[in-house]
Amino acid sequence: MSTTKKKKEKKKKKKNTINIFVILDIILIAILILFLYNIITNHNKSDNNNNNSNNNNSQNENKKTEKNEKTALLGNINEKIDFFNMDYIDRYIAYKEKHPELDNETIVVYVNIGLDNDYYTNTKDSPNKYTNIVLANKYYYLGDDYVPKDLVDIDKSYASGKKQMTKDAAHAFENMAKDAKKSGFNIRATSTYRSYSYQTTLYNNYAKQDGKKKADTYSARAGYSEHQTGLAVDVDNTKTSYTQFGNTKEFGWMKENAYKYGFILRYTKETESITGYINEPWHYRYVGEEIAKYIHNHPMTYEEYYVRFIENK
Ligand SMILES: [Zn+2]
Repeated sequence: MSTTKKKKEKKKKKKNTINIFVILDIILIAILILFLYNIITNHNKSDNNNNNSNNNNSQNENKKTEKNEKTALLGNINEKIDFFNMDYIDRYIAYKEKHPELDNETIVVYVNIGLDNDYYTNTKDSPNKYTNIVLANKYYYLGDDYVPKDLVDIDKSYASGKKQMTKDAAHAFENMAKDAKKSGFNIRATSTYRSYSYQTTLYNNYAKQDGKKKADTYSARAGYSEHQTGLAVDVDNTKTSYTQFGNTKEFGWMKENAYKYGFILRYTKETESITGYINEPWHYRYVGEEIAKYIHNHPMTYEEYYVRFIENK
């Protein structure tokens, strides 16, 4: 081989080696780029994930803080009473602003009853129908088709004509009237169960006579009357009008004894702003002996008892 040829061969070899290196370099760079690309995109992905969960966490945190701030405004009353309803938190706060004189527990009780709304607004279908604890008032309605299932006649000796109550209430009333009689007191049922249609006529007549506003203070609108439960009774002493019952010795006997038979006095002068009814010394409600005894020992309206011990149980 000549020297020139050898040189040429060497050059060619060199050239090939360089080409291989260039290709390898390109491949390596490509791998590196792919590798870096993967790292970056994965990093972004996990960043996004983190951001999402951070967003959720911070949203939950915000809600929690908002709740805590709101319940703090009410002295964290939610931790002390089990009938606190978180759904009503804004209503509690609004009612507290309107009535700063009321303590926090009373605020919760009153809003749960519905008192932050006008009577006959924001009403609800009463639960516990066909039981001795059913509540009928200006926020809890029975409806036009509600008829108690076990109405029975009250013994005529203790009623002014045919008067009906539910079985439990009628028997309790008869026992009460019988015992009162033994001690020389006359307790007589003058108005007991009233149907929806009867209450409609009654209320409409009162409204015609006195105007709706006044009628509402002493007569229930149809569907909202406690008399429709078959658990309520208006009484007299057989001698004077039932409207005078508060002035009779029989009223004194009832105050002392009605609870022993499961009856509570339902509407008093002190509770007008809760029940929405004027003082009715003649109107009693059967709730059963246990509840009647509790209310006798811890005076409160049935509305208050209901939201404290029945509604959220
Ligand atoms: Zn009545």
